[in-house]
Amino acid sequence: MTSASRILVVEDEADIAGLIKHALERAGHSDVQVVGSGDAALKAVAEQPPALVILDLNLPIVSGTDVCRLLRAQSETARLPIIMLTARTGESERIAGLDLGADDYITKPFSLRELAARVRAVLRRGPRSAEATPVVYRGAHLTADFDAVSVQAEGREVRLTRREFELLKCLVENRNRVLSRDRLLQRVWGYDREIETRSVDVHVGRLRSKLGAAVGAQIETVVGLGYRFVE
Ligand code: CA
Repeated sequence: MTSASRILVVEDEADIAGLIKHALERAGHSDVQVVGSGDAALKAVAEQPPALVILDLNLPIVSGTDVCRLLRAQSETARLPIIMLTARTGESERIAGLDLGADDYITKPFSLRELAARVRAVLRRGPRSAEATPVVYRGAHLTADFDAVSVQAEGREVRLTRREFELLKCLVENRNRVLSRDRLLQRVWGYDREIETRSVDVHVGRLRSKLGAAVGAQIETVVGLGYRFVE
């Protein structure tokens, strides 16, 4: 059973944990639980899965990355919303966390307003949906039928190469989530070691220009991390 509104904060630095709890309470989240280690987090989730986990990556003994991996590996918690807290310097860790399936990340130092806004967005989105089966996507500017391999931007049919199409599909299926270049490479190109992450940038560039300004702008570059399709 998921507790409808409980937010679990996993942070070993008591000052930061206290600030987060206070900010969440001020934003109207009355049920906030704080734990100071990864194993305490796993225990708390096993006892009663919360609505959301705010997970610091830098934890003693069991790291936040491990907590994320373990939660995603179990069917009961595979789709539990997770927001990671990361240090500005820990880029590779952050990418690893996103690739492990965190829903969003916040870089320290962060504003408490930003934190409250991210929490609101992730809770509104609810649990991650199961791997989406290809369907028709209809957005404000983009319509894509992933079964029929048909893409329209601003009502105009767009001809894409196979790779561009797969790239768009991957971005749209994971919309509003950051995908690292490595993840995109794995998903779109397979595990081909000959391909460099730079290829992703080149294909994103082509995709943007083919789709036009409105849809192109929806494919955001997230500096140091990768790409995100926003709607
Ligand atoms: Ca910490």
